[in-house]
Amino acid sequence: SLRLGVLAVQGAFQEHVHILNALLNTPVQPLGLLSGETTTANPPKATSYTLDSVQLVRTPEELAAVDGLIIPGGESTTMALIAERSGLWEPLVEFTRQKPTWGTCAGLILLASQATGTKQGGQRLLQSLDIHVQRNRFGSQLGSFEAELDAPCLKMFGEMPFRAVFIRAPIVTHVGSSAVKVLAEIPAPHTGVETVAVQQGYCLATAFHPELTSDDRWHRYFLALVAQYKYKLPNLQN
Ligand code: GLN
Repeated sequence: SLRLGVLAVQGAFQEHVHILNALLNTPVQPLGLLSGETTTANPPKATSYTLDSVQLVRTPEELAAVDGLIIPGGESTTMALIAERSGLWEPLVEFTRQKPTWGTCAGLILLASQATGTKQGGQRLLQSLDIHVQRNRFGSQLGSFEAELDAPCLKMFGEMPFRAVFIRAPIVTHVGSSAVKVLAEIPAPHTGVETVAVQQGYCLATAFHPELTSDDRWHRYFLALVAQYKYKLPNLQN
């Protein structure tokens, strides 16, 4: 009953499609409490809703046909340019400010209201999340690394930690409103912690790449959000 779209103009969209295809036709669990009160020992009952199809999104028509959208990792400036050229930018602004959307890495950058570390002239941002981000926070010397996350929102799907893969990752430097919930942080040398996962309403963003691992818990969490929106299920802690 759920149709999920993956923005496929550039970047690592195939990896998301791959992990989502493995989740086709399995019952979606509704959202537990973000506080982590819902655990594997105390999971909410699975719904009768299932993921029915995964679609590549390249046109406004394809976007209009999905219940939720994933914006993958890749190169955020390039993605914005291609989306503009294909008449997809305005429909994306409208969709992402209203319907379930999940941005990973470059996708997180595109969803932000402000980004630093962009080239002169900058890039267009969808501004659907009230956050500031810094692109390429860890530079090119430490281009990629892995870190273990404690994300309470995922506990209903299995015990922590979640092993996250960061590739030329951005970081959330500023959260602009109390509507934005921080879902995960990693330890950082100078600032103490860095924010790497946030949610505002039905908009989710992660600085890392869950589609590059075999751990599908963030994908199942997003599916729960999509079901939540489409079928107006109770329990969203926002
Ligand atoms: N550094 C890329 C950007 O700024 C994001 C990298 C990624 O998505 N893995 O767009």
